[in-house]
Amino acid sequence: MDRVSRWTNRVDQGCVLCNSSLESRDHLFFDCSYSSEVWEYLTKGILKRSYSPKWIEVKKIVSNNTVAVEKGFCLRYAMQSAIHALWRERNKSRHGEPHTQVQVFKKIVEKSIRNKLSLNRKNGPKKFKGTLSF
Ligand SMILES: [Zn+2]
Repeated sequence: MDRVSRWTNRVDQGCVLCNSSLESRDHLFFDCSYSSEVWEYLTKGILKRSYSPKWIEVKKIVSNNTVAVEKGFCLRYAMQSAIHALWRERNKSRHGEPHTQVQVFKKIVEKSIRNKLSLNRKNGPKKFKGTLSF
């Protein structure tokens, strides 16, 4: 919404996920209290001490090609899933639909990731067969 506000100043720039800050890319991914809770839930166990909710750090972490295949795939897939799901949730709320509680939202995103990792084990490329156990 910070970008939309450059075209017109008659828009609500507030974040619909937390209702306590202006909406920008860095806020949505993952400075927002709602989205950071999701990101932390999905990745803190993988990242441990290198965990960060800051967009610039997240980009560095997922771009690092020196991590093990399983870890790299899980991180990138978690990021893709989180961004897609948060964007859909944001749009849903922006258009007046009921907001999903973060505790429920986290489980839905986690389940979609586990489903993908399960498919990798059954039908995916050989190098990704161990992602579910990782
Ligand atoms: Zn927010």
